[in-house]
Amino acid sequence: MPEIAALGLGSNIGDGAANISRALRELEARRVGRIVALSSLWRTPPWGPVAQPAFFNACALVETALSPRALLEAVKAIEADMGRVMNERWGPRVIDIDILAYGDETLGEPDLTVPHPRMMERAFVLAPLAEIAADAMIGATSVRDALANVDASGLQIIEKGDAWRRRAEGESRMGEHIELKCRDGVTIGAYVARPAGAPKGGLVVLQEIFGVNHHIRAVADRFAAAGYVAVAPALFDRIERNVELGYGLDDRPRAMDTRSKTKVPETLADIEAAIDLAKEGGKVGLVGYCWGGTLAFLGACRLSGVTCAVGYYGGGIAGIASERPRAPVMLHFGALDKHIPLTDVEKIRLAQPTVPVFVYDADHGFNCDERESYDKAAADAALERTMEFFAAELK
Ligand code: ADP
Ligand code: MG
Repeated sequence: MPEIAALGLGSNIGDGAANISRALRELEARRVGRIVALSSLWRTPPWGPVAQPAFFNACALVETALSPRALLEAVKAIEADMGRVMNERWGPRVIDIDILAYGDETLGEPDLTVPHPRMMERAFVLAPLAEIAADAMIGATSVRDALANVDASGLQIIEKGDAWRRRAEGESRMGEHIELKCRDGVTIGAYVARPAGAPKGGLVVLQEIFGVNHHIRAVADRFAAAGYVAVAPALFDRIERNVELGYGLDDRPRAMDTRSKTKVPETLADIEAAIDLAKEGGKVGLVGYCWGGTLAFLGACRLSGVTCAVGYYGGGIAGIASERPRAPVMLHFGALDKHIPLTDVEKIRLAQPTVPVFVYDADHGFNCDERESYDKAAADAALERTMEFFAAELK
């Protein structure tokens, strides 16, 4: 009878998502078993005594006909083939695959202890495992209860659900990194995603303060899947190339600092270069989030070549609310946004009576499914309005 084994996978060298998805593919290709459940992709602070980069982590349930020992041999072979260097215990690794549990079996051999002896104190194991096996009992404790007993602060979901695996394998990655030449002669990077068929228009996707990161690329990919040429200019490149931050507490100071070093005329020149590229799709709209939300509004006021603009929770808009957009604008805000008081939203409404302003019962960053503050209901509602707006304005 096949058993269900729970595996914990981690990586902190190279592309963590790609490494973990490759290990999953190897498990299936080598007929170790069938993956019957997969957690979200998590990012976790490094654990243990060795200073090293943050880890990507995930857990999977594998239906396997192998014995625990054969399973251990198989996962060790995958680790070895993927180039894990066995030099430092608890040090950085391309891939680490642990057997967390194997059915209800317990094994206490020196090189194979099941359930995994350290899993109950590791939030980076318990948080992903709780997504797919909350009720599983590890000894006398459920995974859910074990998770409640550890400090899970600092853990974050990079991509919710199991779709990250396909994306990491490159099947749904639509875009590519390119260089954009700005009118002042400076070259910056950009991510561009193109639709499969004839484009419905062009969009410039304006980043948050976290760089053109995984999330912003995913946003561009989704707009491309909806038929638009989507260009996300790397607006931090003039300060520092290729800044890609996550949404943890440790990322925020660097995000704020880098943002504070940008200069409006240069940022507008970057956006202008992105608009010029997006024109290959037809008329061009701007869509931005957080800092990019403010820039979408500003771009609609100050740049030519903008047919329409959508800003999500742009904290700087109230300060420039008296400027006149040259193109139709739509704005989305969150009522629970601690960065943008509703008095600011009222100010914008008064100054821009023709601009539709929507307020959702959600926090700052509600559109970002990699953030704590993600709110699916608000994100879906705002996206529907945004897509209708683009369809009408860019046709
Ligand atoms: P950790 O997984 O605790 O970070 P390592 O991966 O470096 O540490 O430990 C690897 C060794 O742990 C392997 O050589 C293996 O024999 C032993 N081991 C014992 N129990 C297990 C288990 N349940 N899953 C994976 N490895 C185990
Ligand atoms: Mg291990």
